[in-house]
Amino acid sequence: MKIAVLAGDGIGPEIVQEAVNVLDTLAKIHALDVQYDYADVGGAGYESAGTPLPAESLALAKKADAVLLGAVGGPQWESLDKPLRPEAGLLSLRYELGLFANYRPAKVHEQLIDASTLKADVVRGVDILVVRELVGGIYFGQPRGIKTLDDGQQQGSNTLVYTTSEIERIAHIAFQAARKRSGRVCSIDKANVLESTELWRQVVCRVHSEEYSDVELSHMYVDNAAMQLIRNPKQFDVMLTTNMFGDILSDEASMLTGSIGLLPSASLGKEHAMYEPIHGSAPDIAGQDKANPLATILSVAMMLRYSLGREDMADKIEQAVEQVLANGVRTADIAVSGEYFIGCAAMGHAVCAQLEAM
Ligand code: NAD
Repeated sequence: MKIAVLAGDGIGPEIVQEAVNVLDTLAKIHALDVQYDYADVGGAGYESAGTPLPAESLALAKKADAVLLGAVGGPQWESLDKPLRPEAGLLSLRYELGLFANYRPAKVHEQLIDASTLKADVVRGVDILVVRELVGGIYFGQPRGIKTLDDGQQQGSNTLVYTTSEIERIAHIAFQAARKRSGRVCSIDKANVLESTELWRQVVCRVHSEEYSDVELSHMYVDNAAMQLIRNPKQFDVMLTTNMFGDILSDEASMLTGSIGLLPSASLGKEHAMYEPIHGSAPDIAGQDKANPLATILSVAMMLRYSLGREDMADKIEQAVEQVLANGVRTADIAVSGEYFIGCAAMGHAVCAQLEAM
């Protein structure tokens, strides 16, 4: 099992280290041969090779069975030209690997019910899967840029574009995922205003009627969806949506669970797969052993499930995390006021110790 490890920037190296420790612990228990190849991406790539996605890092990612990514970005790189910024490296990596389907599960842990800023009866039992289109839409559409107009003003523009095939392939993913869950897909768009998402709705309806009439399909405008996620999140099972809407709604959904530091993700394509927490590089807490590594640890569970077919080991990591939380172990982001909390490394150790005890 060859894993390309791209830790990135900010808290990336700290959380990835704990995820690797967890995988190593499991590998020892199951006599699994895991090989790690480390490479730079994002700001780290810019510092070491002058580009946020060095050719060597991309080559390693392409050769690996799976990629484990931390996070990229930081204020020190914000003033660089756009193609040199860390986020450009991450978008290119997703694009080059063809990772069109991003699975972002948001499941509320009963043990953390009080960590959410919402009322317990609103969030108890929430189990949502956001299926986000990842290599199309406004983050990639052309033309884009900032130009100076004849009257001297500047104009910034981006293009929101989706083709039939891009919508079809992500719709299939969402319907198939729903079949393994409670069989409901809510497709989120802004079809009342944006033609690109009017097409989105038409194509989703067609794919549904052709192949998935056993799945219940509903549609919601994104502004309403943002409100409904807070009002009554339990109405959602699979939320199928575009690149930008999925980015925003999954961050919102993370607060149902208590913290963005809990949400893992899997980005899958036809040939490659990458696993990463949904959060960013959190420069405000980087290097202070304050980050919650559980989102990255749970991303390793998704890696074992989706890329390596080891459902048993994935379940084991998820059970270990549940148990650690049940034991009252907390990082700062999920501790309720006055509760004792520990750091990133200690949380990683707690999960490893739990795995060894299971
Ligand atoms: P962020 O997700 O990094 O942080 C938002 C807030 O959540 C911060 O207060 C942070 O401390 C907290 N947080 C995030 N992860 C946490 C964790 N594991 N444990 C505890 N607290 C955590 O978002 P941001 O502040 O908007 O962006 C910071 C940088 O990250 C920017 O450069 C941005 O472009 C980049 N970014 C990268 C990715 C990615 O690599 N996938 C995603 C989003 C943002």
